[in-house]
Amino acid sequence: MGSMAFRSVAAALVVAGTVAAAGGAARPLVRGDDLLERRSLSCGVPLAVLPVADAPLETFFALLPLGMAHDDAGRTQWGHLLEHLLIRTTDAEGLADGDISFNGETGDATLRLDVHAPPALAPQAAAKLSRWLAAESFDPAALEREKGKVLAEFETTVPAGYTHKWATAAWAQAVRHGTDDVALRGDVQAATVEALAEYWAAKRTRAPGLALYASGPLPTAKVAALFEEPGASAAAPPPAAAPPRASDEAAGAGAVAKEWRRGEVTARWDLARPHVIEWYLVPDGDAAARVTTLLLVQTLTQTLMSDPKLQQARVIALVSADAAFPEGRLVQFSASLPDAGAAATARAAFARARERLTSAPPAGSLDRWLQQVRAELSSGLPDFRRLRGQWAGRQQQQFVEAQLLLALALRERSSGLSLATMAATAEQLTGGAVKKFRDEQLAAERANVLLLLPRG
Ligand SMILES: [Zn+2]
Repeated sequence: MGSMAFRSVAAALVVAGTVAAAGGAARPLVRGDDLLERRSLSCGVPLAVLPVADAPLETFFALLPLGMAHDDAGRTQWGHLLEHLLIRTTDAEGLADGDISFNGETGDATLRLDVHAPPALAPQAAAKLSRWLAAESFDPAALEREKGKVLAEFETTVPAGYTHKWATAAWAQAVRHGTDDVALRGDVQAATVEALAEYWAAKRTRAPGLALYASGPLPTAKVAALFEEPGASAAAPPPAAAPPRASDEAAGAGAVAKEWRRGEVTARWDLARPHVIEWYLVPDGDAAARVTTLLLVQTLTQTLMSDPKLQQARVIALVSADAAFPEGRLVQFSASLPDAGAAATARAAFARARERLTSAPPAGSLDRWLQQVRAELSSGLPDFRRLRGQWAGRQQQQFVEAQLLLALALRERSSGLSLATMAATAEQLTGGAVKKFRDEQLAAERANVLLLLPRG
C-alpha cells in the first residue's frame, strides 16, 4: 500500500539526527535515556509511546517480523499480501475512514500497519488496528482485489529499477528454500483465503514478535488502556515463550531447518529486470556487532549511491542488513541491473565501496564520520512545532511526529536494541574496530552471490 504524503516525509526525515539538525533539538537526549515511554500489555506485547502534547494526530504502528526475507517456501510475498488483507478486515477500499487514515508497508524484515487519527478518534483508530491483528478469516473478493494491487506494484517499481524488495523475497526462496525458479507473481496468484488464514494463524503463533508504537497527545497510560480494552486485548497473539525480536526467523519451530544455498547461485524470476545480490552472513550476537553492521550498511549505501560508474551503467544499488536469522544477520549488497552483463559492474562497485571504507562519506576519516553518527544518535527529539511550521500548508505537516517515530521503531526492530543502547554502543566504536569487522566479515572469500534473471 502507500500514501504519498507519508512517504515524502519519510524521504525528508530519514533519521532522528536529520530531524534534529533541521529543527533544532528542543529536548536533548540525556545519554542512556530513552526517547520512548514503554509498557508491556497484559498479553505480553511491548508498547512504546512518543508523547507529543501538541501533535495534530495520534498514530499507532503495529510492527511484525513478517518481511520479504521471512516468506515460507512457495509463499513468496505472502507477508506482503497479508499486510493488504489485514487492513481490508475493516475497510474494503481506500486508505481512509472519515478522518482516520491508515496504511501498510512490507519491507525486508518488517511488516508494518499504521493508523493515524485526530486525538478524539484515537479509540476508534486503536480498535481498527486491533481488529486487523485479530483477523481470523479474509474476504475472497477483497483477496482478488488486493492480488491485483500487489501485482500492480511491479509496474511502478520494476521499470524504474526499484527491484530491491522483490529481490529480498526472491533471495528467501532461492537461498533459504532452495528454489531455482521464483514465482513473485505466481505465488500471489495462487493464494486462497483459506491458505492465507492458516498462514496468518501459524505466523502469529510461531513468531510472536508483534510490537506496538504510538505517537501523539495521548498519555502513555491511556494508549495502553485502549489496547487493553475487551476485544482489543484478544487481538494480540499469545505472548512469546522467549523475548521476541522483530528480525528473528519467522518460519517457526515446525519448519524443518534446511541448509542455505551458499556460493554463487543463479535463479530465474518472473520479473523483467535482472538483479544481483552479493550477501554475507555476519554475527548478530551482541550490540557491538549489530550497531557496527547497521552503521557500515549506512555508509556503504552512501558510497554506492554516489558511484559515477553505477550511474553511468544505470545500476541502482544499495546495502541493507535489516533481516536477522538464528544463523546470523544478512548483509546484502543489492543491485537492480539493466541487463545481466551489468552484474560484473555492480560487483566491482561493491568491492570499491568496501575498500573505500577507510574514508567514509561525506568526507574525511572514518573516525570523524563515527563522531557525527554518535552525535546524531544522541541528539534527542526535535522541536516538532518548528518542524510543522516548515511543512506548513502541506499534508505532510500532520505526519512529522509519526515519521520520527517510524524511523526510531524500524531501527529498534531491525537491531533489537533501543536507540539509547544503540547510542551508548556507538560511543564505544572506533574506526579501527569498524575496519576490523569489515576485514573479517565482509572479506571477498565470504561472499555469496544470487543472480536473478528474467524467465526466458
Ligand atoms: Zn503493497
